[in-house]
Amino acid sequence: MDVLHTKAEMRAWSRARRGGGQRIGFVPTMGFLHDGHLSLIDRARAAADRVVVSIFVNPTQFGPNEDLDRYPRDLQGDLRQCRERNVDAVFLPTPAEMYPPDAATTVHVPTLAGPLCGRDRPTHFAGVCTIVTKLFNLVQPDVAAFGEKDFQQLAIVRRMTRDLDLAIEIVGGPIVREPDGLAMSSRNAYLTPEQRREAVALSKGLAAARALWDAGGRDPRALEAAARAAVEGADGAEIDYVEARHPDDLTALEGQVDRAVLALAVRFGGTRLIDNAVFTA
Ligand code: AMP
Repeated sequence: MDVLHTKAEMRAWSRARRGGGQRIGFVPTMGFLHDGHLSLIDRARAAADRVVVSIFVNPTQFGPNEDLDRYPRDLQGDLRQCRERNVDAVFLPTPAEMYPPDAATTVHVPTLAGPLCGRDRPTHFAGVCTIVTKLFNLVQPDVAAFGEKDFQQLAIVRRMTRDLDLAIEIVGGPIVREPDGLAMSSRNAYLTPEQRREAVALSKGLAAARALWDAGGRDPRALEAAARAAVEGADGAEIDYVEARHPDDLTALEGQVDRAVLALAVRFGGTRLIDNAVFTA
């Protein structure tokens, strides 16, 4: 496995592989890898000849009072997991390598970045779009894998890729969960044992909404209420949002619907967790 630190090394690596006719699959991450990340590595592997994983805690997608300084890191563990998963190259740039001090250009998808997490994190998705664009330009992948766990991010990356005519296939991967239903996340490491037990309320809320959907419930407000009731029962849970929206363009839903994504963000102390479920007829 090649470990690459500079943009020049990354570009040269990809140029050589592409010149040899190999398809490159790419999984961008912020590290502290878990089975959700590994499932995306497998998806990229299935669609390409070579797999690149980037590990970069991107400062521009964190707000001023967020967890950039304490974001969990385990570089040796991450490299070991990548090696075990037969990753071909890991790209590990520093912030200084990625952002010259006078970097001024950003990428925005304002319609999709407005609702849901965009309300609580107004600069987050511009940071994501900008770093993903830069990483796409350096890695030059044929296919890139993103998790449905970050449903809004996936929708935004798909739209950005289409709008900017990037010749990259975007593949989504299903949410990987802990045995009790909690969606895997690097940020779960922040939870105290008690918060960790209560955090199952997110997936329980989604399950309650799914039961309603399966019984024929098609009112987005009722789906939201079912999930909200379950989350409100958890000790220490503070809801940022529980919202049903259109799964393609994240627009608001009214009346009876035949498809929806139910997305939620809940804080336990200083830890913000997100989860979602897609309902289709
Ligand atoms: P992160 O390192 O948290 O920025 O995530 C990197 C990629 O892994 C993103 O595409 C996430 O959506 C994806 N991901 C994170 N958690 C999960 C999960 N539990 N299941 C599937 N994909 C995930």
